[in-house]
Amino acid sequence: MADEPTDYDCLTCGACCASISPGETYVLLDETDVERLHGTGLPIVRVDVQDADPPERIPALPTKRDPHGTKVCAALGGCAGGVNACSVYPQRPGVCRTFAVGSLFCQEARRRFGLPV
Ligand code: SF4
Ligand code: SF4
Repeated sequence: MADEPTDYDCLTCGACCASISPGETYVLLDETDVERLHGTGLPIVRVDVQDADPPERIPALPTKRDPHGTKVCAALGGCAGGVNACSVYPQRPGVCRTFAVGSLFCQEARRRFGLPV
């Protein structure tokens, strides 16, 4: 397998912080994430787990519109597909910590914004 490219500049990309789902939530959180994000001022919402029996709700970060009108994570500063920064980078959720620069998901996200892969 070819090596994953790792020279992408996340601060001029932010493609993975844009939401392509139809809902108004993006990053799902666990309780460690919630504790870590406490005090950042970010809104945390609860979403229903589909088909859960008994009903279950899990915490998540909501979305917002960036200055270009793209639906993005509420924590993103700047624009997806352009100059950006995560406003809670030191406290970012676990799923954001494990997202690999240069992975197939990363490349797919970049392609959606017409960024080179
Ligand atoms: S899509 Fe890839 S290059 Fe772009 S911000 Fe996310 S991890 Fe970085
Ligand atoms: S928390 Fe930060 S790194 Fe994670 S999706 Fe939101 S803006 Fe991106």
